[in-house]
Amino acid sequence: IQTLIDELGRLPGIGPKSAQRIAFHLLNSDRDEVERLATALREVVDKVKFCDICFNVSEETTCRVCRDPRRDQTTICVVEESKDVAAIERTREFRGLYHVPEDLHIAELLRRLSSPVITEVILATDPNLEGEATATYLTRLLASTGITISRLASGLPVGGDLEFADEITLGRAFSGRRAVTV
Ligand code: ZN
Repeated sequence: IQTLIDELGRLPGIGPKSAQRIAFHLLNSDRDEVERLATALREVVDKVKFCDICFNVSEETTCRVCRDPRRDQTTICVVEESKDVAAIERTREFRGLYHVPEDLHIAELLRRLSSPVITEVILATDPNLEGEATATYLTRLLASTGITISRLASGLPVGGDLEFADEITLGRAFSGRRAVTV
């Protein structure tokens, strides 16, 4: 049980006390419930990989969004993490494609943008210092491509993560996005 407590304690937002509480909760839970959790953990390790095109999490070589022919192929939204894709999908404001440059898959982004189909790139980085820096860097890098580069409208809670914005605020930030230049 100490191993379990130690492992739980490594998770973000879980301190030693919470880790202990969760461990003892599991110990006293239904065997079925614990089995389901164990299966989910095992499957995430075995099955989930990253999309070859946009680097979003995916159970197949390309993700659900990239495989969907009904998505608007002219617009790519750049986000920092896969959980931001989930947050934007919940708003239902965006029908285009994504790029999730964790570990800065910039070369792959540039390759995607070399397609004449792409007309707009939306930089939906987190509304904090790091996100701003990433967006500024990408704006400079992409300036010469001639593609419209836009940023989300203000109104998102500053300093936070995109995923923490509520759907309405994030949806408004999307529809109110504006083009930026260097
Ligand atoms: Zn994808």
